[in-house]
Amino acid sequence: MRQAPDVHQAEPIPESAREAIDALLQSGDLFRYTAPENAPVALLEAEFAELLGSKYALAVSSCSAALFLSLKALDLPRDARVLIPGFTFAAVPSAVVHADCYPVLCEVGENYRIDLQDFKAKIDDDISAVIISHMRGHTSDMDAIMAICDARNIPVVEDAAHSLGTTWHGQNIGTIGKIGCFSFQSYKMINAGEGGIMITDDADLVARAIIMSGAYEHNWKKHPVLHDAFAKWQNKVPLYNLRMGNLSAAVIRPQLPELARRVRDGRDGHDYVAARLNASPYIDVPAKLGPEERAPDSIQFNLIGLDDTEITAFSAAAEARGVKVQIFGRSSDNARAFWNWQFIPNLPELPLTRAMLMRACDVRLPVHLSRDDYDAIAEILLDAIDQATQPSRAYGT
Ligand SMILES: *Cc1c(COP(=O)(O)O)cnc(C)c1O
Repeated sequence: MRQAPDVHQAEPIPESAREAIDALLQSGDLFRYTAPENAPVALLEAEFAELLGSKYALAVSSCSAALFLSLKALDLPRDARVLIPGFTFAAVPSAVVHADCYPVLCEVGENYRIDLQDFKAKIDDDISAVIISHMRGHTSDMDAIMAICDARNIPVVEDAAHSLGTTWHGQNIGTIGKIGCFSFQSYKMINAGEGGIMITDDADLVARAIIMSGAYEHNWKKHPVLHDAFAKWQNKVPLYNLRMGNLSAAVIRPQLPELARRVRDGRDGHDYVAARLNASPYIDVPAKLGPEERAPDSIQFNLIGLDDTEITAFSAAAEARGVKVQIFGRSSDNARAFWNWQFIPNLPELPLTRAMLMRACDVRLPVHLSRDDYDAIAEILLDAIDQATQPSRAYGT
């Protein structure tokens, strides 16, 4: 019987990070604004903007911080209503609340993407901004969403925390809306433990975000942005101090050239496991949308025709063999289940999203796994399905 791989083990940080980190340890120059130029954080911003094809990048302490700063940089009035998906990480509604705005939740369908009918119904004249969360890297129909939002002149922020390397019609996710936000937390495609970055083509907006991130006094001069924009905003917006430090940037920069390989390997591994799982009549891995090229490091699938007892038996059988299956809606404290976001006043009910969360399974598939590892995970999941649906046969062997 195959052994389950350790899916929480990270890929080593490239060896070339050592030299930059040693230099920082030698000099003690850890603050991004001490060096007159070429601080690791500044270099990371230039490299990331270039890699994604956007004009400006601002590195910060997390993707949550990037989302918060995005809303602040949009200069939304207090209590502005921000439309967000009902299936996302709790960081998203939290960023909205933190920015003194009110999250309005939209239904998400069984393919983990925004339900466009509900999106159209909820997007009224009281919506000031939209955050699209490409949850677990699943891209919603950005053509339809941008057409609806552009027609109403509503800014779109892309939460691409878990979508680095995904493309839509060949264009990088995170560059479609007005602002894109990414995470460098350890479970994302690039791992610095913690960290985030936002990208945009809007000079005025990034100037505001840079100042608010903590570029106090003349530190904004170390960002390659139009000076007019800074002159306009200096001392006019508060400082939230959400900067990234040089050590994080030194860990991130050598991983950028690894991204294309990670994306390719992650997609190959995901599609291989998806094809094996889809052979079972009890499992459905929803198809991607046409214009989308995914960059997955986990797999999500729906259980078809299993009752509650069988679902419990399935996840217990998989876990007993070392594969942890998270069923989003079935743990008591899941941060991706909207009913746990009780900090939102008048939390709505979302029947479609709830139905999806109650049978959607989540399994990590880090991109560095081998073909044997992928086979082990697929076999354990398929055996667990057999065991849950035909207990007498499975136990008899
Ligand atoms: C990880 C994640 C976040 C939060 O990122 P942090 O850097 O940990 O703040 C937000 N949204 C999604 C979809 C995520 O996967």
